[in-house]
Amino acid sequence: MEKKINNAVLSLKIGDITEEKVDAIVNAANPTLMGGGGVDGAIHSKGGPQILEECKKIRQTLYPEGLPFGEAVITTAGKLPAKYVIHTVGPICSGKWDNEKEKLLYNAYYNSLKLAKEKGLKTVAFPFISAGAYGCPKDKASQTAIKAVIDFLKKENSLEEVRFVLFSENDYKIFEENLKNIK
Ligand code: ADP
Repeated sequence: MEKKINNAVLSLKIGDITEEKVDAIVNAANPTLMGGGGVDGAIHSKGGPQILEECKKIRQTLYPEGLPFGEAVITTAGKLPAKYVIHTVGPICSGKWDNEKEKLLYNAYYNSLKLAKEKGLKTVAFPFISAGAYGCPKDKASQTAIKAVIDFLKKENSLEEVRFVLFSENDYKIFEENLKNIK
């Protein structure tokens, strides 16, 4: 499914984000930036050690205490077909949801797109941030993801496509339903 927002396309697909040939894929990282499970583990294992090397440099320079929730940084993508990996950290929900978690998740998407724009990138693919190990309620997390991306695309004209790459048919359906309900 896709929807035109301003000059850009917002699209949904089922797939493995490590296989996306876009300017940047987004990693649902954790504050350490040292890798982890889920999509983070897949990106580092398929992308090779280059990505981790760059993450280590970021920790040594910009973020010695770790990447704060809702912020984003960028590295190259090693052996992946994408050109860059944008690493962001969504909130840890553990099943709960409140305004603070919503704000942090919104920021994770929005700040990732801001960084893509600053780098002159045109196509960005997102996974379903905080919907795995971080346990955010999927319906709320999907609505927040869509809202952040649409807000950005309405405000900024630089991007051509933002793609949500969902790892299951169920997650795809959640996004499809929420995107349908947007006027
Ligand atoms: P978080 O810690 O932010 O919750 P996870 O990686 O645990 O991040 O999960 C986020 C989402 O990414 C989940 O919906 C999970 O199913 C999905 N996911 C895991 N591996 C991949 C992959 N290779 N491509 C796309 N999505 C993935």
